[in-house]
Amino acid sequence: MIVAIDGPAASGKGTLARRLAAHYGLPHLDSGLLYRAVAHRLSSLGGDLADADAAATVARALDVATLNDPALRGRHAGEGASVVSAHPGVRAALLDFQRDFAAMPPGAVIDGRDIGTVICPQAHVKIFVTASAEERARRRAAELAGRGEPVDREAILADIRRRDERDMSRAVAPLKAAEDAVTLDTTTLDADAAFKAALAIVEARAGERRRA
Ligand code: C5P
Repeated sequence: MIVAIDGPAASGKGTLARRLAAHYGLPHLDSGLLYRAVAHRLSSLGGDLADADAAATVARALDVATLNDPALRGRHAGEGASVVSAHPGVRAALLDFQRDFAAMPPGAVIDGRDIGTVICPQAHVKIFVTASAEERARRRAAELAGRGEPVDREAILADIRRRDERDMSRAVAPLKAAEDAVTLDTTTLDADAAFKAALAIVEARAGERRRA
């Protein structure tokens, strides 16, 4: 079973994807890490994130063993990722890795922006996870505060809005729900309620497939 979880920054899709993967015993890929790793590597080489050719070269040489570098989780890498991810050459370089990951038995849960639309249009279940920008900013602020990091609420909200705009307006693989995705708005749901709702969506889709 392939489960595609897409949605905007800080919508909670990563947590949901991890929990669904654990529940079904499937491997999980956080595809945002690939773009974060490209941005991080390019920056550390002193490159310009806006340089499409340089970014694509880094993407083609990406060592996926570096995906667990904690530096990739920070705000800086996230911002950089949303810049390099708009370059078509970067997306093309990362496509096969993601498709191969999904194709391996027994399937996978993959979260990102274009999993249901571009990477795995054949996914058995597609969930588009969303929440208001204010609620996403509130969650991000709580997460940073929990890690003892400084919190500037206005800057976090501005960051989220800027990323939404960039991710939705780019020419290649923009952030949008696939036509056959189920939208899950988690604005008023806590993590457990969101997981229950996501599980119900997967079970309903799996049931439909069994009956088909
Ligand atoms: O999900 P995460 O916040 O880690 O993603 C960082 C950035 O990587 C996003 O803002 C987006 O620009 C890009 N991304 C993408 N396609 C994906 C996953 C992430 O373009 N499938």
